[in-house]
Amino acid sequence: MRPETIAVHAGAEPDAATGAVAPPIHLSTTFAHGPAAERIAGYEYQREGNPTQDRLEHALTALEGGAAALAFASGMAAMTALLEALPNGARILIPDDCYMGLRLLAQDFLTRRGITAVTADMGDPAAVAAACKDGVSRIWLETPSNPCLKIADIAALAQVARSCGARLVCDNTFATPVLQQPLALGADVVMHSTTKYFGGHSDVLGGALVFARRDALYERVAHYRHVTGAIASPFSAWLTLRGCRSLPARMAWHCRNARAVAEFLAAHARVERVNWPGLPTHPQHAVAAKQMRDFGGMLSVEIRGGREAALAVAAKVRLFTNATSLGGCESLLEHRASVEGEHPVSPQNLLRISVGLEHPDDLIADLAGALA
Ligand SMILES: *Cc1c(COP(=O)(O)O)cnc(C)c1O
Repeated sequence: MRPETIAVHAGAEPDAATGAVAPPIHLSTTFAHGPAAERIAGYEYQREGNPTQDRLEHALTALEGGAAALAFASGMAAMTALLEALPNGARILIPDDCYMGLRLLAQDFLTRRGITAVTADMGDPAAVAAACKDGVSRIWLETPSNPCLKIADIAALAQVARSCGARLVCDNTFATPVLQQPLALGADVVMHSTTKYFGGHSDVLGGALVFARRDALYERVAHYRHVTGAIASPFSAWLTLRGCRSLPARMAWHCRNARAVAEFLAAHARVERVNWPGLPTHPQHAVAAKQMRDFGGMLSVEIRGGREAALAVAAKVRLFTNATSLGGCESLLEHRASVEGEHPVSPQNLLRISVGLEHPDDLIADLAGALA
């Protein structure tokens, strides 16, 4: 079945007790059991597992083509749970351009366990292979990456990971399984901030891991989540599941709008550079075209004239809201360097844009006005 059909039907069986077509939200924290703790329907306590979260996990597994999924309270909770499984002293590779939370986790917490996170240019498989020479437990990809929209060749890096005995993890938040399926390309684990496109309406925080195999790593992470408790709450799981139903339809619209905005910006005299993998001028456009169905709704733009010029554009937009996060119906724009605090890594003239579901002509008119 194709993603559009899976998205509508996975985890969507009518409720066995009532026939309700929309899934119920089971808020119960505890489930009746027999005198010697015999389970009646497989559940015992909400932190260990619950029916609404199970439905979401079925949908995530089916959409990514995995063997099992785990839903979490946030994307960072999912990332943390996965990295907890690393032994003390491990060495991992992370992208030179990536979500800020991964960098902070590595620098402020993994270091305490003697874990070294080495940054690598994931766009260069030979450089990644060279960086693996000293032994690596995980290669962490984010493609397209935040905020520079760099592309990593997942199949090529899966080969590198296999040859050095590392597991390949792919943060698939920007692409979603509608546009890209890393497990089919050889990744071992897919990570999501479902807060973004899955939720789709900027109103629910969540994260997920989808595993290629239901193996010891999956068991360990499931046990960690059970014990430490960063599950998806039933209401969050239900909202995210609801987001799944329209995910493919929304992604098609996000991609169409992003193309229009990217082409407009690329032709504008005040723009130095547009980072969107769908543009033929993107350095890894060919790799993106090979592994993605379409190029996504995220882009970044570098404005001529540096920091002040970029901030002036951010101050003048009306339809775009200056806000962090992404993947909602409304278009957002953000000067990343300002958000990154004391040690910004993003170019000072870069604005990140989450292209929403408005009419593209209105978005372009707003940007044209802000750039004028
Ligand atoms: C938002 C985001 C995260 C973190 O997810 P939260 O749900 O905010 O905890 C991780 N990776 C990427 C690419 C993101 O955009």
